[in-house]
Amino acid sequence: MTASSTPGAGSVFIFDMPAPLAPSSVRPSKDASRVVANLPSTVRILVAEDNPVNQRVAVQMLRKLGFEAEVAVNGQAAIERVARGDVDLILMDCQMPVLDGLEATRRLRAEGVRIPIIAMTANALDGDRQACLDAGMDDYISKPIVPAALTQVLSAVPMHRRPGAEAASESG
Ligand SMILES: [Mg+2]
Repeated sequence: MTASSTPGAGSVFIFDMPAPLAPSSVRPSKDASRVVANLPSTVRILVAEDNPVNQRVAVQMLRKLGFEAEVAVNGQAAIERVARGDVDLILMDCQMPVLDGLEATRRLRAEGVRIPIIAMTANALDGDRQACLDAGMDDYISKPIVPAALTQVLSAVPMHRRPGAEAASESG
């Protein structure tokens, strides 16, 4: 720990804390861990979205934050992708063909999938948002997605729901 004081301006204390790295964290990453304090940049985020423009915007934004991102074109594709593993979080569009985001979330939760699911809602109507939460989603973000809101919602995501070593503190 280092400390420096400036008369009249206060003191600055700097702590260096060793933190254990998960094996998957050794890969070089961008600055996501700094921007999104709660999430390691090694998380793989699935963008369940049927609109190609929205897909591209979300994926580019996530990759810019240092995350791995991939697309599922509807709720059914999202369920199938999650079943193959290695998805840590889902950004879920609510309105999609074949299977919408609400129903996809209900099915995932019914299957016991507990990874965070964040709704991407086309409008800010409270009813829609409540429907997302009722379906089992953890949070929501308004479209069009902007980096500040994305960072904020990812920072607030409940880490204990993530599978793997970092959820080891969760018992039972
Ligand atoms: Mg849609």
